[in-house]
Amino acid sequence: MHDFKYKNNRMFCEGVDIADIAKKVSTPFYLYSYSTLLGHYQKLVSAFRLKRPLICYSMKANSNLALCRALVKKGCGLDIVSGGELYKALLAGCPPKKIVYASVGKTEEEIRQAVAKEILFFNVESASELELINKVAKDIGKNASVSLRINPDVEPKTHAYITTGKLTNKFGLDLDTARQILRHKDKFSHLKFKGLHIHIGSQIIDAKPYAQALKKILAFIDKLKKDGIGIECLNIGGGLGIIYNEERPQTAKEFASQVLPALRKTSLKIILEPGRFIVGNAGILVTKVLYLKKTPLKNFVIVDAGMNDLIRPSLYGAYHEILPLNRKPETGNRKPEKVDVVGPICESGDFFAKDRQLPKVKEGDLLAIMSAGAYGFSMASNYNCRLKAAEVMVKGNSFYMARKRDSYLDLVRKDMIPEFLK
Ligand code: PLP
Repeated sequence: MHDFKYKNNRMFCEGVDIADIAKKVSTPFYLYSYSTLLGHYQKLVSAFRLKRPLICYSMKANSNLALCRALVKKGCGLDIVSGGELYKALLAGCPPKKIVYASVGKTEEEIRQAVAKEILFFNVESASELELINKVAKDIGKNASVSLRINPDVEPKTHAYITTGKLTNKFGLDLDTARQILRHKDKFSHLKFKGLHIHIGSQIIDAKPYAQALKKILAFIDKLKKDGIGIECLNIGGGLGIIYNEERPQTAKEFASQVLPALRKTSLKIILEPGRFIVGNAGILVTKVLYLKKTPLKNFVIVDAGMNDLIRPSLYGAYHEILPLNRKPETGNRKPEKVDVVGPICESGDFFAKDRQLPKVKEGDLLAIMSAGAYGFSMASNYNCRLKAAEVMVKGNSFYMARKRDSYLDLVRKDMIPEFLK
């Protein structure tokens, strides 16, 4: 599943002893495995080879430039949700014709930039947004290609915060509204309506909700055909779950076997936009034990990473496996004990694990917080004026900096003191 493995009880990323990286880079840091990253991308490519979809990696999962470039160089496109991601996508070398742009709240300026670059599709989420894209395209004398994001109203059985395809969610258009828009599409002089898009949620471990959503959308496409409206392209979104703990998510092959038969009967060009599946297990967060603290009720392991580095446990109660980099310390024993692994931040929600049985650790030990490649660094902040962690990529027997650790200067670079306070 990934290239973080023990050799002689020391955790390696591909061919590199991770503790050696920690010595040079200091902690905390994110570590990505190049081969795991590309391996997951290839799994999707091969599972879907009969339909040859465009896979647009969802940058929100992790927009590190090195990581995006590694994928883009293998032919991957990118799914973006902001002007900032467009900027980074282009810097990563992604051809605009492989960029799709979702988001319920694209600003006029963001739309202008994306129209000017002639991206593949705007995944449009409301009627008002269509009006605005049309106006902007007209203003700058271009046509924009759009795909309507449909909310298929299915239950993906994931955390409520990452459920996106139910009608109570803010995303997409209901079928009736989408149909009305498409019936009157000629009023949008500068838009080319080419596709439909669905994305029903994230960390979905079962393929059935996709099959359900697909059934609805294919029936809708048939209905449109009867109205004389042709659809060229279908974006079936991302959302594929990964293993964090004991879940048994669908594999790429199982996913393809659920959705490909229906898709192969059509001439639709297919887009996928997975994030977590590609990068989730390709990254870990390495942190050092600062202090051990016993209270009458708890054993705390206080580490040097915090919720500002990885917010998933605090935000969603998410589980991340925590492993020692050195499984067999020179001194002491590893008899497991029940601990809370917590960060240094002034919030009781700042934790990575609660009441977890972990092999006994001591101060100074290095720990790997596993499966942290997706929605880890991309959700990081400078809360408590903490420096955002460094990011490192391993390829084979070498490691490379993929982002420097923040400096104190980075914390104040943009702050301004008004004249009257000087
Ligand atoms: N596409 C859209 C529109 C999304 O909102 C998201 C994530 O929320 C994704 C793709 C990627 O999801 P995941 O990382 O679960 O594959």
